[in-house]
Amino acid sequence: MKKFIRCGTLFTGLEDKAKKDQTIVVEDGLITYVGPTSKAPKPNGGEVIDHSKWFVMPGMTDFHTHLAYGNAKCEEDIDIYAPVEFRALRGMFMAQRVLLAGVTSICNPGDAARVTLSIRDAINAGLFEGPRITTSGPYVTSRQGLTDWYPTWIGQPETSIGHVVRSPDEAIEEIRCQVKDGVDVIKIAMDGDMALQPNGVSRYNGLVAAFNQEELDRMVTETHRLGKRAITHARGKESTMYSARAGVDIIFHASHLDNECIDAILAANLVICPTLTLLVNNYEFSQPTDGAAGAWSDYCRVEAEAAFEGLSKAHKAGVPMVAGTDTGFAITPYGEWHAKELEIYVKYLGMTPAEAIRTATVNPAPFLSDGERLGAIAVGRHADILALDGNPLQDISQLLDKSRFKQILLGGEPITVSTHDIDTRQVSEFSYAMWGDIYTQQRVAELSNSIRSIAAE
Ligand SMILES: [Zn+2]
Repeated sequence: MKKFIRCGTLFTGLEDKAKKDQTIVVEDGLITYVGPTSKAPKPNGGEVIDHSKWFVMPGMTDFHTHLAYGNAKCEEDIDIYAPVEFRALRGMFMAQRVLLAGVTSICNPGDAARVTLSIRDAINAGLFEGPRITTSGPYVTSRQGLTDWYPTWIGQPETSIGHVVRSPDEAIEEIRCQVKDGVDVIKIAMDGDMALQPNGVSRYNGLVAAFNQEELDRMVTETHRLGKRAITHARGKESTMYSARAGVDIIFHASHLDNECIDAILAANLVICPTLTLLVNNYEFSQPTDGAAGAWSDYCRVEAEAAFEGLSKAHKAGVPMVAGTDTGFAITPYGEWHAKELEIYVKYLGMTPAEAIRTATVNPAPFLSDGERLGAIAVGRHADILALDGNPLQDISQLLDKSRFKQILLGGEPITVSTHDIDTRQVSEFSYAMWGDIYTQQRVAELSNSIRSIAAE
């Protein structure tokens, strides 16, 4: 049956301004008319959905969400203890939380085994309701790269989110395997020297990339030859430059980019997914009792400040951006902070709210599976639509407030998923850290007042 959605205010994503009194007509999940209600076809018995009091816009995309991570508190939670089968079931639950936040599409860049690939296929097969998913397999990484966290004498577990390759030939082989398994994109870890120190702090060195230019060129060429997109994790300048020169499709982070990087990115026509929410949440939210407090959150603030400066310049120079949050960590839980990325773009990168919304709608669409039918409210596209109480073009932060969402439509159908509280100890937190302190006599004496007051309760 045809659906006629009456929109009080409509932001299609394709224009800078919203329009009043518009109608969207949907047939078989696809939009067949968008325009003034006065000129719209008559319902003639079709279903009328009345959003004449609300602001209507395209469903959002979070281009950087990791369904396999499980709101992890540490890399061990991500890589080691939970079987990948459990992670897939947990990820399905979490994907629904993401959808409930108005995020109708995600890209999952970096996965354990085939966890998100299976969630994607289960949703596409109609087994479960969930967002549209574009996914990579495990990061392709080197002995110098991100996701090879553990000492060489431990190595990288098979259940890790990364796959270490020891030569360009092994990298090509891994890319071919992942494409055969059905991934949509290839994620390459380009930041080097990311091994965690025993104190949990990365000795991240932004200068040395994980792969050299020649190695990356070969991986990107093979990825493109197989018809897939190549995306890199690159915070450092060198990894960003190599990514631009190799002609990857999207660079994640690019926190330390300078004018030379911006020129190379513009010349190669690339897109950046800044992913600032993870950095900002770390220094805004970490409590003194968190391992991430102190050195790590200080580091996040320094990186964020560099990124605000460089990415503002890149935005001014015309580098397109797509919004992503690195959702999946305990500091960026599912369904919570997706729209914060847009708030950060407005606050720190100088974007207008309309530009920020486009980073989560129109801009990412070409990089998603079936993307030509996503990202905007336009004829021929999927009716992935949000109706909300407010106007995020006036206050972008409204998109963080889930209570404002009056309806979320996926392919023209109102979503029916709901969520409920969970015991996180049974869902993640499987690593063996049992105490947050060392209970020497001196420490116990220092703590005695608070311990006693707890005991007295
Ligand atoms: Zn990530």
